[in-house]
Amino acid sequence: MFEKEKKEVLDCALEIKRNRLVSLSGGNVSMRVGEDRFLVTPSGMIYEEMVPDDVCLIDAQCRPVEGVRKPSSDSAALVYMFQHMPQAQAIIHTHQPWATAAGFAADEIPDFLVTVMDACRNPVKVAPFTPSSAIGMGELAVEYAGDSLAVILKHHGVLTWGKDIKEALYAAVYLEEAAKTFVLAKAMGAEIPALDPALIEQEKKGWETYGQ
Ligand SMILES: [Zn+2]
Repeated sequence: MFEKEKKEVLDCALEIKRNRLVSLSGGNVSMRVGEDRFLVTPSGMIYEEMVPDDVCLIDAQCRPVEGVRKPSSDSAALVYMFQHMPQAQAIIHTHQPWATAAGFAADEIPDFLVTVMDACRNPVKVAPFTPSSAIGMGELAVEYAGDSLAVILKHHGVLTWGKDIKEALYAAVYLEEAAKTFVLAKAMGAEIPALDPALIEQEKKGWETYGQ
């Protein structure tokens, strides 16, 4: 079941690895595929060694519906997010270093760059620490999501989501690029001025027709 979607999940996992947002088997990728049915990458498997059938199909209680692999240890948090964020069809969790570093320098990454305005849609808040592999990570993500497509998990990493896996991927990769600029600007002691909200809205409109 869901062969095309499993391949999409695996392709996305390889893409976050290529973009250095995770190392080894870190992070996870998940997708809503029906009423109380979710695909999630397996626990502790190196992405390059995975095949699409290693992606787990689970129910709302995180019980395997199909497949022999043990699902990601963050599954309970991910399912909580899917249940409380109906707009999210896909979720990506990473340990991306620049955005995580920015989480120690500010309470949010503002919409100071076109990449944040476009791909994250709104400023990205920093949620306080909660241990991984527990539902609390999902609860805090929902609490701190706001109108953004991403949240930074202090002492941990990042969660992004979207109406599809591509939107979640763009949020994760562009947030990392923006966070690098943010951290460098902070390190130089530069002022990051707030922008005119009308110009930010204009920028976001342009993104809606970006691409093919
Ligand atoms: Zn993690």
